[in-house]
Order: sequence, then C-alpha cells, then structure tokens
Amino acid sequence: MGKNLTKRAEDYSKWYNELVVKADLAENSAVRGCMVIKPYGYAIWEKMQAELDKMFKETGHQNAYFPLFVPKSLFEAEEKNAEGFAKECAVVTHYRLQNDPDNEGKLRVDPEARLEEELVVRPTSEAIIWNTYKGWIQSYRDLPILINQWANVVRWEMRTRLFLRTAEFLWQEGHTAHATEAEAIAETKQMNDVYAKFAENFMAIPVIKGVKTESERFAGAIDTHCIEALMQDGKALQAGTSHFLGQNFAKAFDVKFTNNEGKQDYVWATSWGVSTRLMGALIMTHSDDQGLVLPPNLAPIQVVIVPIYKNDDQFNAITVVVNKIADQLRELNVSVKFDSRTTHRPGAKFAQHELQGIPLRIAIGPKDLENETVELARRDNLTKQTIAIDDITNVIPQLLAQIQEDLYTKALNYRDDHITEVNDFEEFKKVLETKGGFISAHWDGTPETEQKIKELTKATIRCIPNDGIEEEGRCIYTSTNSARRVLFAKAY
Ligand code: AMP
Repeated sequence: MGKNLTKRAEDYSKWYNELVVKADLAENSAVRGCMVIKPYGYAIWEKMQAELDKMFKETGHQNAYFPLFVPKSLFEAEEKNAEGFAKECAVVTHYRLQNDPDNEGKLRVDPEARLEEELVVRPTSEAIIWNTYKGWIQSYRDLPILINQWANVVRWEMRTRLFLRTAEFLWQEGHTAHATEAEAIAETKQMNDVYAKFAENFMAIPVIKGVKTESERFAGAIDTHCIEALMQDGKALQAGTSHFLGQNFAKAFDVKFTNNEGKQDYVWATSWGVSTRLMGALIMTHSDDQGLVLPPNLAPIQVVIVPIYKNDDQFNAITVVVNKIADQLRELNVSVKFDSRTTHRPGAKFAQHELQGIPLRIAIGPKDLENETVELARRDNLTKQTIAIDDITNVIPQLLAQIQEDLYTKALNYRDDHITEVNDFEEFKKVLETKGGFISAHWDGTPETEQKIKELTKATIRCIPNDGIEEEGRCIYTSTNSARRVLFAKAY
C-alpha cells in the first residue's frame, strides 16, 4: 500500500492528499470544501481533544456550549471582527422548503418563509458569547469567567485542503472575561503556552511562540499570540492562536462591571483556539513515503500484534500467548490491537499498519513460540529487533517513550536547520526558493513593506518571536532602521 503512495520529493501536496485518504483519516465530501473525518482520523482527533481538555481544566476552565447561529445584528456589533469575517460567512435566510410548482419532484425555498433577521453561521463565537456574558457579569465578584467550547465553525474558504483548511472545521474556542487588563494579557499568554506544550509533548512538534503583525492579527483583537510550526516541505503552518481582545467586545456588547473600588469599567477579554488543522500539522511533520507516522502519545493504537501461522493449531497456540501479552500491556496503559483477521495475509497487514502509522508492530509465529520471542518493528525508523516475550512489558513502554522523543528531536533538528538569518533581499528570495523554512530578517515595521514582500515572494511574517533578541539592523526591503528580526515564511 505504502508503495503506491506518491513520494514526498515528487509532489509533496499530492503525497499529503493521498496519504490522508489511504490511511483512512478523512475524505472529501459532497459539500464543497467540507470533509468527512473517518473513524481512524477521528480517533486521533479525540485523543488530541482529551489531552487539550485536560490541560484547559487544569488551568481553571470549564466547558459550555453556545448556538451555531449568530443573529446578524449581533454579528455586526463589533465592527472590526464583523468586517474581518464578513467575506467568509454562510448566512441562513429561510427556514422552510416547499415543493417547486415549476419543477416537479424538486424543492425550493418557501418565499413566505424568509427569516425576519438573517442568521450568520458562526465563523467564530465572540459575538454570541459576549452578548450572553452581558447577562452574567455585574460586579468584579462575577469575574473571571473562564469558558471553553468544543464546536464546529464555518468559514467559506475559497481554497481548501483536507484538515489544513476546510470550510467547516472542528475546534475549541476559549472565551474568557477578566476584571483587569493585566489578567487578560496573562491569560492570553498562558493559553499560547498551553498550546506550545501540547504541540511539543503530545504531537512531538516543535513550535515557535510569537506575536502576529497587525495585518495577520485576528479581526477585533489588540494582539494575537500564536504558535508556528514548520512542515517537511519547508512551509510554515499556524498551529494555534490566542488573542488579547482588550475591551473591544465589552464595548460592543455593553458588558460593564463594578470594580472593587465601586467604579464601573468595561470587562477585558481573551479568546483562543486550535482546530482540526492540527491533524494536518501532525501528518505533515512526521509522516514519510511509506505513510503515516504517529507519535505514541496520540496514536489510537500504539502496538499492533500480527500472528504468522499456517494452520488452525498454530493460530490457536499463538492466540493464547498474544492474549496474555495484550493483557499485560493494557495493564500498563498501552493500547494494543491483536490483528487476528483471517481475511488478510501478514504482508498486507504489515503494509496497512505501516500506512496507518501504528508506532510498534509485534509479529509472532511458530518459531517465536518455540524460542519464546517475538519480532518487534518500529514504524518511525523501520528497524526490527527480536526480543524475549518476558521482556515485552519492560521494553515496550520504554520504546514508546523513546519513539516519542526521537520524533520530536528529528522534527526539532529539521526545524532548526531551516531557520536562516538573512540580511538582504536577494538572499532572502534565494533562500526562500532553494531551501524554504523560516527566514529571520529585519523589517521596518510597516504593513506596506510586509504587503510588498508578500506580493513579490509569497512569504508572510509568521510572527515576531517571543525569544527574539533586540538587535539593531536594517529592513531587508527598505533599509530603514529596525530593532529586531521577525520570522518570514511561505505558509499553508
Ligand atoms: P482564528 O480564530 O482565526 O485565530 O483561528 C483559530 C484556529 O483555527 C487557528 O489555529 C487557525 O490556524 C485555525 N483555522 C483557521 N481557519 C481554519 C480553517 N479554514 N480550517 C482549519 N483550521 C483553521
């Protein structure tokens, strides 16, 4: 199966699309730009959700749910947010269909059933949530509100790609309300840190934390913090965002509170989100020409066991041993699948498990039974070893941890090798074309220069990195003075 996959070096984009479909993660649907997430892909997303959810709760947040529809009058209340999302909005105008008198057997919208007020399908939920918070907040004693929602949103994207950019996507959106500016800013940074930690510890993806420039900022935000990752083709991917919204939404929805000095003030806000785009990041960071490579911390199945047999007696004898091994591993919280299908040969099973990125494969045949051994194969580096059955409970948890670490190190080395410091525009273009990756360069701080560079090279400023150092320099495009470097890249 993996053999039929387009090679990354041949056509990275084709490789990705084929892999998503062949590994049974997702497929395109009858709805333009919308995908079907298949059970195996959804199982990975559920693991991501579970870990993130735990981290949100550990930082004091609770889950709630708000409506899918936003009345247009609420949607337009925060003008910048509305303007930013207006071009991508799906809008409900009618609430009933009827038989079409001019076209038998077909339906049409009932012209009598036009909504008095149009409903926007949420592209993001600040409006409906801040309209709700108005009723919840009177005094500083009602603050902070620390809420997260797991939901779907719709943004009518023109160019879509499975997981990375879809018209409907699944995400979580945190929406918090605070009494002070400092507290809201601290929350914004805290959640960006949570995302970075999740990306590194679970997805094995190194990320750069930073702040967006004005033109890349979330519509309606004062500041957008982000984590940026680098894919294997040298393109960057925005993997998560956390916004400091100031008092913009409180002003738009008149959400005031009495502070501890008895004075009225507007409430301070944040919002933050990661989406099913993370699935795309996971696939693009680790996978190879054989198929998916999954970090053990997010693999729905960590160990698959394949029996090698010629007759029922052998199969039965192997099954007894496998059941014992599987029980022992499950007790150690390792997820195990015994692939006992009689409809497929071992070779076909191996190929499928490889394509689907199961981190470890155990193969066991009659010879192994005799020797009390198994063959253990790693998906990430495709190495094999023979180990004693008695050692399995020792070796496997250690090896899973090792794979997790090795994947991170490999991605980190690649990422670090693809951050290039550049000091003039010719070099900038050359590096972008030949090597890709992040380019660390001086910029004069104006949206005009940023736009010009984007037009000429397709590279955008991914972020002003948090750990960047102050350094006098000159803008690569205008030669104007600049106080620090920013990170440019072509991005998904
Ligand atoms: P935003 O609300 O624009 O800050 O986006 C929140 C998160 O959703 C970010 O991590 C984005 O990268 C991601 N995202 C934005 N648009 C899409 C899309 N069309 N498909 C999938 N993920 C998206």
